Amino acid sequence: MTERSHVKLLIIGSGPAGYTAAVYASRAMLEPMLIQGMQPGGQLTITTEVENWPGETEIQGPELMVKMEAHALAMGADVVTDMVTRLDLSSRPFTAECDSGRVVRADAVILATGAQARWLGLPSEEKYKGFGVSACATCDGFFYRNREVIVIGGGNTAVEEALFLTKFASKVTLVHRRDSLRAEKILQHRLLNHPKVEVIWNHELAEVTGAETPMGVSGAVLRNLLDGSTRQVAADGIFVAIGHAPASELVKDQLELHNGGYVKVEPGSTRTSIPGVFAAGDLTDHVYRQAVTSAGMGCMAALDAEHFLAAQDGVETAPEQLVASIA
Ligand code: NDP
Repeated sequence: MTERSHVKLLIIGSGPAGYTAAVYASRAMLEPMLIQGMQPGGQLTITTEVENWPGETEIQGPELMVKMEAHALAMGADVVTDMVTRLDLSSRPFTAECDSGRVVRADAVILATGAQARWLGLPSEEKYKGFGVSACATCDGFFYRNREVIVIGGGNTAVEEALFLTKFASKVTLVHRRDSLRAEKILQHRLLNHPKVEVIWNHELAEVTGAETPMGVSGAVLRNLLDGSTRQVAADGIFVAIGHAPASELVKDQLELHNGGYVKVEPGSTRTSIPGVFAAGDLTDHVYRQAVTSAGMGCMAALDAEHFLAAQDGVETAPEQLVASIA
């Protein structure tokens, strides 16, 4: 099916929102095409244990995403490995141009492009990216066996990354800008009781230090936010885990955004500022940002898209009637 150039419904993104939308839209006979993007499976593919997906006490993030893809395929979704590089929402059908040269026109679009890791924006961080500075412990942690690493941040991501790194590193120093963590209590408990972990409170990363030849990190200059003093801490790797920014680049000049780049949807729905364009998951959610809430929004987006397409065909169906027919 992947050669189709015109589809009723195009889903962009392959995290929990995208795959859930694909499952529901397939079951509604919309024959959706889902374009996976640069990181098939999204952010969960670079996490380890997931302990809050209902029905799975513990599952690896990548395994969960493989299951979601398999589910979407089994329902008949057309899952395409490609990346949308340009999206024209100025007229319907909407047009998506992909990295491979593929051009797809779609009567309705569900945006589920998620979010990407944020960086601090320091020149030294940029300089050593890939040479000791990383935003993904799951990807790069293995290189730090018996070495010392620093993690920056105080949310769930930072604490999970720090705990994951204890499997390899001899010491993990978590640096946080305040004196309390934002992460879930259970994660905080594990972190603060871990023998390999030290937490440095009320500090920020001022500079990454390192060598030119061979290129590599040797440590960090940390700034005390209470008195302005600085100190040098030795480390072989620095993991930046300060949250995520929505991946709204494709639509930033076309759709209404808010809260620093998140796609705005009508409250209680996934409808964006352009009829026929729906948004779900981390791209639109700056509050909850959980796999399970993203999946829920993916479901809503498929129902909203089905309602929209039915109205275009002259068949008026309210979303609540669709829920009854799909269930
Ligand atoms: P969060 O936004 O929750 O946390 C970001 C952390 O980085 C905060 O502690 C923040 O500090 C700190 N920070 C932000 N900007 C800077 C800066 N410029 N300098 C220094 N520190 C900074 O992001 P996460 O990626 O941790 O989590 C995102 C969402 O995903 C959350 O809803 C989280 O619950 C969820 N998540 C859930 C997981 C799970 O359930 N297993 C796993 C991972 C994420 P401060 O606290 O001072 O604001």
